[in-house]
Amino acid sequence: MTVRTRIAPSPTGFLHLGTARTALYSWSYARHHGGQFILRIEDTDVARSTQDAVDQIIDAMKWLGLDWDEGPYFQMQRLQRYHEVAEQLIAAGHAYRCWCTPDELDAMREGQRARGEKTRYDGRWRPAPGKVLPTVPAGVQPVIRLANPLTGTVRWNDLVKGPIAIDNEEIDDLILVRPPPEGSPEGTPGVPTYNYAVVVDDWDMRITHVFRGDEHINNTPWQINLYRALGAPLPQFGHHPVILGDDGLKLSKRRGAVSVTAYRDSGYLPEAMLNYLARLGWSHGDDELFTREQMVSWFDGSHLAKSPAMWDPAKLAWVNAQYLKQATPERLAGLAAAQLASRGMVAPEPASLVAACALYKDRCSTVVELADWIEMMFVDVRPRAEDLAELVTDAVKPALRALRERLTDAPWDKAGIAAQMKAVLGEHQLKMPQLAPALRVLVCARRDTPSIDAVLALFPRDTVLARLAKV
Ligand code: GLU
Repeated sequence: MTVRTRIAPSPTGFLHLGTARTALYSWSYARHHGGQFILRIEDTDVARSTQDAVDQIIDAMKWLGLDWDEGPYFQMQRLQRYHEVAEQLIAAGHAYRCWCTPDELDAMREGQRARGEKTRYDGRWRPAPGKVLPTVPAGVQPVIRLANPLTGTVRWNDLVKGPIAIDNEEIDDLILVRPPPEGSPEGTPGVPTYNYAVVVDDWDMRITHVFRGDEHINNTPWQINLYRALGAPLPQFGHHPVILGDDGLKLSKRRGAVSVTAYRDSGYLPEAMLNYLARLGWSHGDDELFTREQMVSWFDGSHLAKSPAMWDPAKLAWVNAQYLKQATPERLAGLAAAQLASRGMVAPEPASLVAACALYKDRCSTVVELADWIEMMFVDVRPRAEDLAELVTDAVKPALRALRERLTDAPWDKAGIAAQMKAVLGEHQLKMPQLAPALRVLVCARRDTPSIDAVLALFPRDTVLARLAKV
């Protein structure tokens, strides 16, 4: 058997973190087993689906490097297929048409509520031997419903959660197909519901392992019953717990940035994002940092967490910082230049940009922070008054003036600058911990920097002289 997995996002918004994590697990599982990974766009919610969301999803998948072997397939291009399968299900007695109007359904539910019963479709259009069905009303377009088994229990051994059992009595006759929108030309196929289209697709696409969020656990019994009605082989299901925010509530679009591309734009590296997402619900011993190749070689579907993981921005920043340390300055220079461009700034010439990335990358958590360091080299900085008062004292000012003098024609590199600093310290009976902080504040408007001689050497000489002239 060839392992075939898929990710099936709905293009009603950006690719959010939970879906990205599911995509990562599905992709890794397929790659681990030498199988295939498929991208399917579930765009049947026509009112909410947009091309922009499709583009963003594809963009995010590519950025993460989750390459797919087939697709993207679009459900709205497969309506004819769902229609055909629905007709087969009706012919075989596994599905039926229901002409209930929305008003009738409301009345049905109200009655059930009044009687203290669970609200559900009461099966009034479900054919049964000897049963007389209502008269088909004029002007009502029917839906197609699954004739869900009335008894028995649906069981599966979830790859994440273990054995799950749900009684058929708990679930009603799901709508499979809704009528086409009003005014559609004669013969337009109806629109499938999620639970129906997902099964036809996973069957047609020969999906062997379905990973998804556990908000779909309650849908799975219907889907399993549909597979059985179709005589289709059952895939294995794995339902991942939700990701929680630090307030213990589910991460959602409404509660802060949860799109993958927002993290790219905030200066995270794709390999850090993947590494962090992977660990959020899966483990390999105590390993915190691993490559994509290691993930693929380790990810066999075991060690998936059963309970929700907490989104931890501080840990993500730490992971990203580790990857920034490992990244080459040349690569970071490109990312930093793009970050500066997004601020409307032109990056310094390549050699100095690369040198700056090499110097600053070890103390950054994101490319945004890296760009902040680089920006200070050519955008005027404003030292804080309290830093000036504390560190640029009368005791050190004469030395700063003398250093400025010396730097006007000293060799402009780390060693040249260090030599002038040393000379000034000797002449003025000062120590480095007095001079260096004052230089940092004046030139960089920061209290901490890498070695100040190396930092100054990255600046154009005139910029340093101009900032020191303010003493
Ligand atoms: N379109 C569904 C979603 O985004 C897919 C669920 C599934 O993978 O079956 O939640």
